[in-house]
Amino acid sequence: MTRKFFIGGNWKCNGTVDEVKKIVCMLNGGEVPCPNHIETIISPPFIFIPMVKSCLRTDFQIAAQNCWTKKGGAFTGEISAEMLKNLGVPWVILGHSERRTLMHETDQVVAEKVEYALSQGLKVCLCVGESLKERECNETAQVVSRQVQAVAARVGCWANVVIAYEPIWAIGTGKVASPEQAQEVHYNLRKWIDCHIGCQVAQDIRIIYGGSVTAANCKQIGGQPDVDGFLVGGASLKEEFIEILNARNTHTHKTC
Ligand code: PEP
Repeated sequence: MTRKFFIGGNWKCNGTVDEVKKIVCMLNGGEVPCPNHIETIISPPFIFIPMVKSCLRTDFQIAAQNCWTKKGGAFTGEISAEMLKNLGVPWVILGHSERRTLMHETDQVVAEKVEYALSQGLKVCLCVGESLKERECNETAQVVSRQVQAVAARVGCWANVVIAYEPIWAIGTGKVASPEQAQEVHYNLRKWIDCHIGCQVAQDIRIIYGGSVTAANCKQIGGQPDVDGFLVGGASLKEEFIEILNARNTHTHKTC
């Protein structure tokens, strides 16, 4: 089967009301492949979600950048999966390395979040990836499979999961993985999934690459056989995101 190309724009903790309006306007006016060729998510900070949702073209889906591990309640400052669902947000990004490192989210916490979000009907973009030190010690495959294994211990159905391989050393640094490096990790991860989760899941699951993707490097990385798209941070706030959405261009269309 062919895996539909998948591209996410992760705005992280960026934007003012005026900036958000400009980005949405840029996205709404962009010529991009039609939805039978590409699936797109846009992930604004929580506070801007209702505003973006109300004016963004409908072929771009909204994703939250995080959610709580369980049902809401007395958890000050958290946002629950139920709230996202209630607001009509279909996707959530979980396990981003900035949350794993800065907020000390362990593999287990990420796995709990993925399990709960899926149980509430959300789709999940699960981020995994190694640090520079781990890569230099040849531990990349081990780290990435350990992070996926933690989720596999709790989750049986992977139909609503996309995995984003995001080497930490490439995120926001301008140091992009080479197309060969990305392909090698994606290929090994797919092989690991085949052995430990199932061959159908391995064939079907989309594994996207994230880490300093730009208009200049997206075509080469996106041309690798096991790279099924991108998670884009910095460049998703700029005009060049439209070029990235066209990395594997076939038929474009514009929805205003
Ligand atoms: C990200 O935040 O997921 C990311 C890949 O960031 P950047 O594209 O800026 O490296």
